[in-house]
Amino acid sequence: MNSEWLTTREKLFLLLSTSSKPLTSREIMRKLDIRREKELYEHLNHLALSLKRTEFTLIVFPPRCANCGYVFSLEKIKKPSRCPKCKSQKIIPPMFLIRSKKDV
Ligand SMILES: [Zn+2]
Repeated sequence: MNSEWLTTREKLFLLLSTSSKPLTSREIMRKLDIRREKELYEHLNHLALSLKRTEFTLIVFPPRCANCGYVFSLEKIKKPSRCPKCKSQKIIPPMFLIRSKKDV
């Protein structure tokens, strides 16, 4: 697909709305050639807001601690650096998907 003319946020929307499975930040960054994780999370936060006026919704699978299973609750999308419960830094990153609100 030729999507050179799309903005990063439009590409992000296309990628997540057509993906068959949730994607991690790392997978998204590789596919869209985004260099900084912080930049991706900014895009995702803006996208989540703008989708509120549409029939689509950004589904966020929250990050989890690989050590104790603690599930992070996030007001803003980001990847936490360590677990507040066991202090482990082995964090399973958040995953993302976009679906029609009718299908959720
Ligand atoms: Zn933990």
